[in-house]
Amino acid sequence: MNVPLLDLKAQYKTIRDEIRPVVDEIFESQYFILGPQVQKCEELVAAYCQCPHAVGVSSGSDALIIALMAEDIGPGDEVITTPYTFFATVGAIARVGAAPVFVDIDPVTFNMDMKQVAEAVTPATKAVIPVHLYGQMADMDPLMAIAAKHRLIVIEDAAQAIGAEYKGRRAGSIGDYGCFSFFPSKNLGGAGDGGIVTMRDKAKADRVRMLRNHGMEPKYYHKFVGGNFRLDALQAGVINVKLPHLDSWSEGRQANARTYDRLFSEAGLVPGKVRLPAHPHADPKKKSDHRHIFNQYVIRVEDRDALRAHLTGRGVGCEIYYPVPLHLQDCFACLGHQKGDFPFSEKAADETLALPIYPELTDEQQACVVNCIKEFYGA
Ligand SMILES: *Cc1c(COP(=O)(O)O)cnc(C)c1O
Repeated sequence: MNVPLLDLKAQYKTIRDEIRPVVDEIFESQYFILGPQVQKCEELVAAYCQCPHAVGVSSGSDALIIALMAEDIGPGDEVITTPYTFFATVGAIARVGAAPVFVDIDPVTFNMDMKQVAEAVTPATKAVIPVHLYGQMADMDPLMAIAAKHRLIVIEDAAQAIGAEYKGRRAGSIGDYGCFSFFPSKNLGGAGDGGIVTMRDKAKADRVRMLRNHGMEPKYYHKFVGGNFRLDALQAGVINVKLPHLDSWSEGRQANARTYDRLFSEAGLVPGKVRLPAHPHADPKKKSDHRHIFNQYVIRVEDRDALRAHLTGRGVGCEIYYPVPLHLQDCFACLGHQKGDFPFSEKAADETLALPIYPELTDEQQACVVNCIKEFYGA
């Protein structure tokens, strides 16, 4: 049996009849950049994220850059974040000329350890970027307290976490900015690159709106230097069709996570060779005000690289997010870090493996994944 890591064709089959007319309508209008689809997308996503303002941009990476630009963060400034994330989080800090300052992760959730944030603050610190990794939100209350005390801007990297909740509050609605990605493999993916920034403050939203279009307002009058960070109508049109399905897809991912949890214990792999992701939906009878949207279902295992090769050989898709933490990347050698500086991030990079979790995954496919893992460990 073939089990891909992600099967976007299976999803497209279910929404094809809704997508095609919207695409046709956009082509008939020949209105491809910003415009009514983008405006509708901003309204829908703002409401969904329980945040008053949203501005569509060209990608999740650009959403992070534009938030930093909106706060005039640049050379001489420090921004605190995690080394265990996708490159774009830290790339954005470097792109505006600021210095990334890392703190290690909590080994259970893989999210930034907030106890270490307070110790990392210096007079040069301007902002913090918590990442809601794999679809589970970082511990925002202590972070917001530290930010208030030191007057730091909080930019949530919510690229993997649209619809995730922390104490009943949605990703992107707690910090000053929420940065989302519509990259096709995210839970809410477009038909290409795209992203959106959410903000509680109207003045910040107005600034981001101008920045995404060369700081221009009115036309051909520029108050500051922005860039071309605009969202396409086609991407927005696709997102507008997909957003009403997002909650049922997220529930499908949560149900699949519970199925894996059960199959792994039935297979005798837990406790033992496999450690499961900690998540608030593990016990369906227990009500929680946290919501994990499972952009990834990530296990920790012994002999990870050999297991990965075994699964790949059996036609089971899996992936390592992320094999090299950011403080050990060649391009950040200038920061002077070495192996051992952030031990929990390094351990996660060595032990984690993401399994297929997309909502259309069948019980048979999940059983196949767990059986292949059981076979590997000879259990
Ligand atoms: C995907 C992702 C991004 C970047 O989004 P793009 O739309 O691909 O530019 C940023 N941060 C995290 C954590 C991501 O997973």
